[in-house]
Amino acid sequence: MAGLDAIVIGAGFGGLAAAIKLKRAGFGRLAVLEKAGRLGGTWRDNTYPGAACDVPSRLYSYSFALNPNWSRAYSGQVEIQQYMEDVADRFGVRSMIRFNAEVARADWAEAGKVWRVTLVNGETLEAPVLVSALGQLNRPSFAGIPGRETFKGESWHSARWNHEVDLSGKTVACIGSGASAIQYIPEVAKTAGKVLIFQRTPNYIIPRLDKPTPDWLRRLYKAVPLVDRIFRFTIWQMMDLRFRAFKRDTPAAEGFRKLATGYLERQIADPELRAKLTPDYPIGCKRILISDDYYQALNRDNVELITEAVSEITPKGVKTADGTEHACDAIVYGTGFDTTHFLAPLEIHGVGGWTLTEAWKDGAEAYLGVTVSGFPNLFMLYGPNTNLGHNSIIVMLEAQADYIVQCLRELRRRKARALDVKPAAQSDFNVQLQKDLEATAWAGECSSWYKTASGKITNNWSDDTAAYRKRTARPAFEDYAFAA
Ligand code: NAP
Repeated sequence: MAGLDAIVIGAGFGGLAAAIKLKRAGFGRLAVLEKAGRLGGTWRDNTYPGAACDVPSRLYSYSFALNPNWSRAYSGQVEIQQYMEDVADRFGVRSMIRFNAEVARADWAEAGKVWRVTLVNGETLEAPVLVSALGQLNRPSFAGIPGRETFKGESWHSARWNHEVDLSGKTVACIGSGASAIQYIPEVAKTAGKVLIFQRTPNYIIPRLDKPTPDWLRRLYKAVPLVDRIFRFTIWQMMDLRFRAFKRDTPAAEGFRKLATGYLERQIADPELRAKLTPDYPIGCKRILISDDYYQALNRDNVELITEAVSEITPKGVKTADGTEHACDAIVYGTGFDTTHFLAPLEIHGVGGWTLTEAWKDGAEAYLGVTVSGFPNLFMLYGPNTNLGHNSIIVMLEAQADYIVQCLRELRRRKARALDVKPAAQSDFNVQLQKDLEATAWAGECSSWYKTASGKITNNWSDDTAAYRKRTARPAFEDYAFAA
């Protein structure tokens, strides 16, 4: 494919935002490479029962594509997937997507100043600009639990739900109790004979307060989009205020802790069960979960919470460290994702063949999460240190897509062919970022998908989204080296 403006990898929320904004800005010759047969990213992959977003839909949608029709405050996976499909059609980017096109590697060709992208099937494409929109939660992790292959029943990861298996009346082992698990466990418990939850660490949970959006309100949003916009803005501002609760030892953090522990006390009467569900680390260190039905499910007679460590999987079920073998018919692994190896398993070779894997051997880092020194014209959406614990990731993705557009415009204005962030700019940015992160709850004593095994926080942004938008609104081009 000759004459491309850019190659975008991934057709999830990030890839679609990039494609739409680049197209609008006049960089419309795009190839969006999607490894799967359908767009949607995480919303295509996570079809487990009860899958829904824990950010209100008014804000978990693009600012340029408001949807007056969201059926609930927090919409479900099917509705979000449909929204993404509609947006791709409405903004004319579906035809740019090449499905079942999995990228194996990308090489920067210094002489021609282009990225050469090689697909798994050996095909190659070239473009001056490479935009990666892979997401942070796309590689399921089974947490290295031994014996998985010996299990005689059915088993699967939460992000690869097996809808062929009817769980009614069955004994289902659910390993993990994170954001995904607390959504499907209440659903599974409705029909399963028995649900065994293997919890390693309890989470702070606050009420979700989800409710259907009445017809009259949807009609109002449709008739007066300004109302929708004002609501969206208000939700954004209120959620940004929540960032204060992620600073350690603040009144806001204490307020959230009380909200969570109060909810636990009101919902769980059994003191033994309540003790098992009480976290012993600072609130916010791990993701604060929201749910209206998880504790309620734990009160059911057919649900058991097991806190003994999982030691191995046997042909019959799950064995715990105390030697007990818990027999079951099916196992669901809600064990999360490989989150700290950004862009893996892609091999990205920058200037002089230097790879991102080498550059990131001590933990991934970038400049504003978007560019990496030594990798000219490579831009990332949802890159290192751009995840949030308190607000909608769509706000960040749009800021990043706008930033990329400005960089491409600047290249055009200067009649330059490449830009590369200066090493000193990237390193100064990261020194300050890591310093700021020290004051956040994520630096507390807990394990989370936000940090590497050695404790470096590689995933989260250190401030609220307004601050990120401000930093990215006008690129500091003095931090970049331009090449003709
Ligand atoms: P996760 O938050 O990483 O949770 C993984 C769970 O598996 C944790 O409870 C973890 O325990 C447990 N686990 C890992 N290894 C284990 C082992 N060897 N033995 C027993 N338990 C083990 O993954 P997730 O629930 O899929 O969620 C990931 C992220 O996706 C969320 O934080 C959120 O950002 C996003 N998400 C969002 C939504 C939403 O919007 N509604 C829904 C789902 C997911 P430990 O806590 O001890 O590590």
